[in-house]
Amino acid sequence: MILDLQNIYKDYQQDKLVVPVLKDVSLQVEEGEYVAVMGPSGSGKTTLMNIIGCLDRPTSGTYQLAGEDVLKCKDKEMSDLRLRCIGFVFQSFQLLSRQSALENVALPLSYAGVKKKERKIRASQALERVGLGDRVTFKPTQLSGGQKQRVAIARAMVNNPKILLADEPTGALDSKSGQQIMDLFQQLNDEGVTIVMITHDRNIASKAKRIVHIIDGMITEEGSEEAEHE
Ligand code: ADP
Ligand code: MG
Repeated sequence: MILDLQNIYKDYQQDKLVVPVLKDVSLQVEEGEYVAVMGPSGSGKTTLMNIIGCLDRPTSGTYQLAGEDVLKCKDKEMSDLRLRCIGFVFQSFQLLSRQSALENVALPLSYAGVKKKERKIRASQALERVGLGDRVTFKPTQLSGGQKQRVAIARAMVNNPKILLADEPTGALDSKSGQQIMDLFQQLNDEGVTIVMITHDRNIASKAKRIVHIIDGMITEEGSEEAEHE
């Protein structure tokens, strides 16, 4: 089991009001799985992704990531674990606009202490892997949306993380570019990368091998009894 979340609750404090967002969420993912998390806006998808991605801590619950007890980790250990294990892809790409594709992709390597020459080699290999070997010097403004997302995927994968977490990765793309991103995810999953992809698009979700639904902060598995009564 690469991800094992049990009885996760997340509350946000809004002024004096406590807002419950995740309510007893349990989710287990085996290494090599490809899971889509579907749910309407406001259902808690991004909140869950931030917890899975070690960007945020739940209010209560337990979480094992690749055998490590994440919630017992100090902040520094948690960010090391994140850097080692997880690549992120966001709807809005989150690229640095003044930096080239190569520099954007090389960024996680500098956090990991890789030397400059080696960073360049590995970043260009990562860009080749996503079909952008001829765009290394281009800045984000000189790339299409689909190309920007492929740069972001190269950046997510440059450390060879075991897990790719994607939050609405095709949400800002036309359907053709979206399909190219889905082809790339399929290729990565075939290579053994575990993928957890958040989406509200059923067509996109259907590319995954397993679909879980999150509604109002609670999870139901597709094909399970609860989901059939939808
Ligand atoms: P989704 O990604 O499914 O659209 P989110 O996880 O972003 O949903 O948000 C779920 C709920 O949690 C929303 O009602 C949102 O208003 C609330 N929420 C998210 N982040 C915060 C925050 N930092 N403080 C207070 N409420 C938040
Ligand atoms: Mg969201």
